[in-house]
Amino acid sequence: MNIPLLDLKAQYQQIKPEVQKAINEVIDSQHFILGPAVEKFEAEIARFIGIKYAVGVASCSDSLLLSLMALGINPAHTDTKGMEVITTPFTFFATAGAIARLGVTPVFADIEPDTFNISPDAIAAALKKHKNVKAIIPVHLYGQSADLEPIMELGRKYNIPIIEDAAQSIGATYKGQNTGTFGLLGCLSFFPSKNLGAWGDAGLIVTNDEKMYQMIRSLRLHGGQKKYYHQYVGCNSRLDAVQAAVLSVKLKYITEWTAKRQERAQYYNQLFKKYNLSGFVTPPPIRPDCNHIYHQYTIRAKNRDGLKDFLKQQNIGTEVYYPLALHLQDCFRYLGYKKGDLPESEKATQEALSLPIYPELRPAQQEYVVEQIAGFYR
Ligand SMILES: *Cc1c(COP(=O)(O)O)cnc(C)c1O
Repeated sequence: MNIPLLDLKAQYQQIKPEVQKAINEVIDSQHFILGPAVEKFEAEIARFIGIKYAVGVASCSDSLLLSLMALGINPAHTDTKGMEVITTPFTFFATAGAIARLGVTPVFADIEPDTFNISPDAIAAALKKHKNVKAIIPVHLYGQSADLEPIMELGRKYNIPIIEDAAQSIGATYKGQNTGTFGLLGCLSFFPSKNLGAWGDAGLIVTNDEKMYQMIRSLRLHGGQKKYYHQYVGCNSRLDAVQAAVLSVKLKYITEWTAKRQERAQYYNQLFKKYNLSGFVTPPPIRPDCNHIYHQYTIRAKNRDGLKDFLKQQNIGTEVYYPLALHLQDCFRYLGYKKGDLPESEKATQEALSLPIYPELRPAQQEYVVEQIAGFYR
């Protein structure tokens, strides 16, 4: 058996005629940047996650960057040196990269010991120590919401806006409300491997705040809504019409695909129990009141690297998200962190292993994966 970490071709086969028709309509219109297809998708996604406004941009990396710029953290207009933004060190690089690119200092707050998500207690501690914090960016890692209630409470207490990095959490809820809708701004990614993936790069920002909405619409067009008149220095960051057309088709299926991911996650959980792997493998923890959408099914594994190599030999694709915490990256050496500073994140980089999970994954494939894992520990 050969089980890739992700199989996008299987999904493509199911929606091929529909997507190709939608793309052809864009081509026939010859309207490629913003325009009706993008506006349609923005309206659809806003309805889907239950928010007023959505602005399509070129990627989620740009969503994060433009969100910070919309808060006035724009080096073209303000001295950003000395400004700080709190986030997790256990995330994809883009989260912290956006902060650093604006000349702002990322402040890393450690994760909870179980859920892989930023710890509200660690944020509280960072807020006591750092006096120039302009935003807090929690990430809903692997498709499960961070503990938003205490995080929102800290934002209110210190009057600091929250930007949610919801790149991995489309459709995930916290106490019944969609992630991305709690903070002042929410950032979504449609990178092809995300649960709702475009056929190229694409991202989006959501908000209930009209001022933020207008600001971001302006920033994605070089800081001007009226052609050739610029209020701000922004950038060229637009969702293109072909990607929007693809995404509109796929959005119709996302609820069904998410349910299938959840079924497969439950089946993995059962299989790990059946093979009695406790002590070797810890399945992903579920926070009560949360709807985990399993962008990744990420276990903690004993001798993780050995297991990963072994599974590779058995033609089972796995991935380590992420092997090096951000506070220890070369490019952030200037921040002065050292090994041991954020122990839970560092531990997670040693233990986390993501297994194949997608709607098209078959039970026999999952059985094979878990059999092989059991075989490794035997
Ligand atoms: C994928 C991802 C991003 C960046 O998304 P792009 O659309 O690839 O720029 C940001 N944050 C997290 C947590 C991600 O997983």
